[in-house]
Amino acid sequence: MKRNLTFTLKSLGCKVSQYDGERLVEKLKSLGLNQTEDKPDIFILNGCSVTGRASQKVRQTLRAASRKWPGVKLVLAGCEARLRQQRSLESSEADWVLPVYDDLETVLAMVQGLFPDYTFDAHGPEDIQMTAKTRAFLKVQDGCRQFCAYCIVPYLRGKEWSLPMAEARVEAEKLVAEGHKEIVLTGIHLGHFEPSLVELLKILEKVEGLERIRLSSIESVEVGDELIDWVATSPKACHHFHLPLQSGCDDILKAMKRPYLTADFRAVVDKIRHRMPLAAITTDLIVGFPGESEEHFAQTLAFLEEIEFSRIHIFKFSPRDGTPAATMPDQLSNAVKADRSNRVEEIWKKCAGNFYQKFVNRPVEILWETFDGEQLHGFSREYIPCCKKAAEDSQINHIETTTAKAATSTGLRV
Ligand code: SF4
Repeated sequence: MKRNLTFTLKSLGCKVSQYDGERLVEKLKSLGLNQTEDKPDIFILNGCSVTGRASQKVRQTLRAASRKWPGVKLVLAGCEARLRQQRSLESSEADWVLPVYDDLETVLAMVQGLFPDYTFDAHGPEDIQMTAKTRAFLKVQDGCRQFCAYCIVPYLRGKEWSLPMAEARVEAEKLVAEGHKEIVLTGIHLGHFEPSLVELLKILEKVEGLERIRLSSIESVEVGDELIDWVATSPKACHHFHLPLQSGCDDILKAMKRPYLTADFRAVVDKIRHRMPLAAITTDLIVGFPGESEEHFAQTLAFLEEIEFSRIHIFKFSPRDGTPAATMPDQLSNAVKADRSNRVEEIWKKCAGNFYQKFVNRPVEILWETFDGEQLHGFSREYIPCCKKAAEDSQINHIETTTAKAATSTGLRV
């Protein structure tokens, strides 16, 4: 019997998870399933397990989906699925667990496992619908062997792997042919791309029709002169560095087993700003790491004020079973973590406002991504959220260079 099955897929977590989710969407479409947001047959959660809180969110999201769409088949994929498989944990919330889905056969086995009467006509790649997104993620690296004290990722993602450069180029060309204007290079540990990240960037910048290349998170210690030089001089490079800091206190950085101290981090930021005074520097920060005293935290706040990040992703530390930090003494209460998170947020909002202000009355280059009925929204090369009044959405997926009229608390108005 031929059935027209539908699915909804949600990815939680980092850009690598988002990228993996998009590839899974392509595979499902090529197997003849239709994507919908309206009562799907299958709900797939590409779950993140980077923290205990992330795992909790996975459970909550699965439960919410089954309440919203009674009878829907629930699939758990991604890092959280791998974690549960490794630890032989029951996944009673999910009807199917899909730890890896590199090949179509595995995905088909999942669909037919859930719907045994499902048959499909193989589609060629030309039948795969292009995603509506204007920015596309291109995963070129996976795996990490850093073993930071709080992080489960090295245990889950295993050995480091890099996409061969010729394949990366082919993938980039495919994404451009689908209509994407900007590619975000992602990896768990992008700076470990082999043989050379800068060499890869020089190949990708030659892809015709590709207008922007953005780097996702990269460790500060892996940002060398050559990379800074490429970003400063390539007409396609986005002037944006996302450098995970995690703590602005040397004692805590050591306890976290991070591969740098604040002085090293500062030196990299100084080099970047020396070449590109208006480059965006964004970061990730963990508050409430075990043993983080008020004095340690005060050092972090001072460092944040000094560096003036234009965006900070704040994570309240949550112990992840199997990592050294989970059993460290002096675990902090949720109230302390929430308070510290608010204090960091105050600083980054202030720093972001100062950063946006520097662009007022200057030309900014924006890729318009969404339309809410009244305004277009998009991001500048420096990853500043921008908006402008519009009557329709015809400029979506267009790049416009225009003057910023005003800075608001959330970005720029043009
Ligand atoms: S560098 Fe550290 S935080 Fe990042 S994935 Fe590796 S172990 Fe985790």
